[in-house]
Amino acid sequence: MIMAQSASADHPLSDLFQCKWDDKDGFQCNNLFYGNNFSVHLREVHQIIGGNMARVRCQWNHCGMELNLDNLARHVKERHLSIALRCDICGRGFSRRDTLHNHRETCSGS
Ligand SMILES: [Zn+2]
Ligand SMILES: [Zn+2]
Ligand SMILES: [Zn+2]
Repeated sequence: MIMAQSASADHPLSDLFQCKWDDKDGFQCNNLFYGNNFSVHLREVHQIIGGNMARVRCQWNHCGMELNLDNLARHVKERHLSIALRCDICGRGFSRRDTLHNHRETCSGS
């Protein structure tokens, strides 16, 4: 079972995902991890450690984006795992960031 496709449309964090993190020798990790365990996986398997403000490079499938360690797990979940974005005010799920952004303006404006 790879990239578990559950019955629900919005990949819950409890689903299993396959790690596409590039390892040193050009191989990809390919280990399975639970979505809500990703930061632990990063730390224990890929030795991504440091303070929350440490600059790290996302090595997910040659992504190469540089960002704070604090944001890395969220970046991977949103960008690479297609976990649904959620409005933190009302909890509605959205598949696209700009849709969520538009929604947020009206949701928080009242
Ligand atoms: Zn991995
Ligand atoms: Zn990335
Ligand atoms: Zn909302």
